[in-house]
Amino acid sequence: MELELLPLALPGIEDKRPLVIAGPCSAETEEQVMSTARELSKNGIHVFRAGIWKPRTKPGGFEGKGVEALPWMQRVKAETGMLTATEVATPEHVEAALAAGIDILWVGARTTANPFSVQAIADALRGTDVPVLVKNPVNPDIELWTGALLRLNNAGIRRLGAIHRGFSSVDSKLYRNPPMWHLPIELKRRFPALPIITDPSHMGGRRDLIAPLSQQAMDLGMDGLMIESHCNPDSAWSDAKQQVLPEVLDFILDRLVVRDEVEVTESISQLRKQIDELDNTLMDLLTKRMRVSREIAEYKKLHNMTVVQTTRYSEILDKRATQGSLCGMSPDFVRDIYEHIHEESVRQQLEVMKTPSPVHSVGTLNSSAFGPPLKGGE
Ligand code: PEP
Ligand code: MN
Repeated sequence: MELELLPLALPGIEDKRPLVIAGPCSAETEEQVMSTARELSKNGIHVFRAGIWKPRTKPGGFEGKGVEALPWMQRVKAETGMLTATEVATPEHVEAALAAGIDILWVGARTTANPFSVQAIADALRGTDVPVLVKNPVNPDIELWTGALLRLNNAGIRRLGAIHRGFSSVDSKLYRNPPMWHLPIELKRRFPALPIITDPSHMGGRRDLIAPLSQQAMDLGMDGLMIESHCNPDSAWSDAKQQVLPEVLDFILDRLVVRDEVEVTESISQLRKQIDELDNTLMDLLTKRMRVSREIAEYKKLHNMTVVQTTRYSEILDKRATQGSLCGMSPDFVRDIYEHIHEESVRQQLEVMKTPSPVHSVGTLNSSAFGPPLKGGE
């Protein structure tokens, strides 16, 4: 399914890359909002974010100031000229934010995970042309992310963008929400015209990870950054550990190396040609390997052997993981690849087991041709 997109076309910042959206996690007080906004604007930030309604995991925390904070956002816009952005999670939020003239709305990670909520927001937005940014769902499910974008698009929202803020994970050691970059990259592949904005604050959950994650986003050709910034981060009412002073944000942005997305030089196209040729060779080898697996399956069938021989399978995984790490690859990566290859090999072998043995295979796959029965997983 396709998205019908128009450029975000934010007044005054049409072609700027990266598009930077900055501001506190939450609007806490008028003074906090104004002093953060003034600093950011002085440093050349054009879009101000602040959470007005805050989704909190447990009740009893600071749940945002709500509509009381909307006039503060209006004041930011009037005094600094910055565009304003906030999170909406219900049709009531949409209505209040639009009535207050908020320029950009975003759908939070918890909301994207819930199609009922996304549909209710989409219905509330029907007939408007406000730009809407959709955060990835908390779980690493690209279909939910795509689904939310489609629901908004079906409601007539054409100025859409995605915000990549990382995904919940049980075994995250370093990141609050590991980036799993392959997911936004797949989103980009599906919808090349969709701007993707990286949110290193919620991804890293720590100040010191903002710079390296922002640089990775630029290296991967992402279009913008949403970064939490607060005039007094240590005493922030939410997400204190991941917010930076406006001057720290300025320091980080100054040092970013912004790469051009498409600059196909002679040498790059030569290298790409090599990659294409190597990929063809890989496909060729995989095809040959699967053919041999099917021949082995004929042999196993003839000798009443099981398809999966676990010792042989473990041997292959261990041997290739070690070999991979000697070649400079991550052993886990090599293991993963071999697990997938094995899965497909088993699937093909099961197909062979189902079909009656072709008469000729008895001749070509007898034990004299193969020696004693193999101990192999394949
Ligand atoms: C936020 O941007 O402050 C926020 C609540 O983010 P997320 O939806 O990514 O958790
Ligand atoms: Mn936050």
